[in-house]
Amino acid sequence: MINKITLSILTTAITASTFAHAIQPEFSAHHCKAAETNAQHYRNFPSALIEAQARHEKIANIQSARKYSAQAKQGHVDSLDSTDTSFVMGISATPSYVVPVVFHVYGTVHNGDTVNDAVIIDALYKTNEDFQGQTADYSDIDSEFQNVKDHLNIEFRLAGIDPNGNPTTGIVYHSESSGAGNYSSSDVKNDHWDNYKYMNVYIQNDLYADGVTNNSGVAWYPDSGMSDDGLARVAYNGAYLGTNTDENFRSVLTHEFGHFMDLIHTFEGRCKRGAAKRCSQTGDEVCDTPQQNSWQMNPGDGGILNCLGQTINWQNFMAYSDQYANFTQDQVDRMINGLNSSARASLWSASNLSATGVAN
Ligand SMILES: [Zn+2]
Repeated sequence: MINKITLSILTTAITASTFAHAIQPEFSAHHCKAAETNAQHYRNFPSALIEAQARHEKIANIQSARKYSAQAKQGHVDSLDSTDTSFVMGISATPSYVVPVVFHVYGTVHNGDTVNDAVIIDALYKTNEDFQGQTADYSDIDSEFQNVKDHLNIEFRLAGIDPNGNPTTGIVYHSESSGAGNYSSSDVKNDHWDNYKYMNVYIQNDLYADGVTNNSGVAWYPDSGMSDDGLARVAYNGAYLGTNTDENFRSVLTHEFGHFMDLIHTFEGRCKRGAAKRCSQTGDEVCDTPQQNSWQMNPGDGGILNCLGQTINWQNFMAYSDQYANFTQDQVDRMINGLNSSARASLWSASNLSATGVAN
């Protein structure tokens, strides 16, 4: 999207309030740096890549369990091997997860917008609606994806008990700072709450401490090494949080939470004719999201047909969309797999929900 020079021209030409609307359809190629950030992480920590590969080997079993359920409903199940059975037993048809969240907020004015409790509560509510498929857009999806769209019955709740056992709002304010999007951020390291008990979200305006304040967010996929070191996170720009941005761009927080649960951009790897057969290993490693020619594909901008002539799921939360609306079945499987990983499974355990004050 938009580089610094373009940005400065734009900001002088239009007011801050109209600016946010002006840039929405033109997503930045760098508006979310999850792909390059996680690729770098795997180069630096080969053990993290090995952990991810082991995690992903399980997904085929989850998907065969889903297929088994569908076949069983239709009354024609042939056979099931022992690997499948464990997942049929382990994965509920209506999974329900609660995840305790702490927001660390650095400075309360981001690009002129205020970050306060109300904005955060609203943003989290919207993200829960997105995940649960409760938005108006969820029913307004291209016909090609009506049978593929899916939602995850998950709720992110602000923590009610802090690591010392004291009551908390789940929102902690700090003085202004920057760089929470950088791997070894001292703010992240110093201020984190136990990554195995809390999902940590860091709200800063300048995510990479490079003077750029229009990067929306970044997140890392599940990795126990990062959780051990207190570095697991979503880092997000307060200027794009909840009511500080427009109705569609609010869902970019949902997009980052998707990364946190192991989802990759739907445009990763672009569109290659031979890759469709290896869809579980290439691109976003998900088979029911058609490949995209580029990140810039929307009905009014770049079109929605890929290099194979397929309609893409341009409304997917893991794309850069003008109308965020849905996840797919395979993405939900992948998130469930991510939630069951060693880096995430403790978050939603019953004992942890009590310990962090978010149990029903
Ligand atoms: Zn992203």
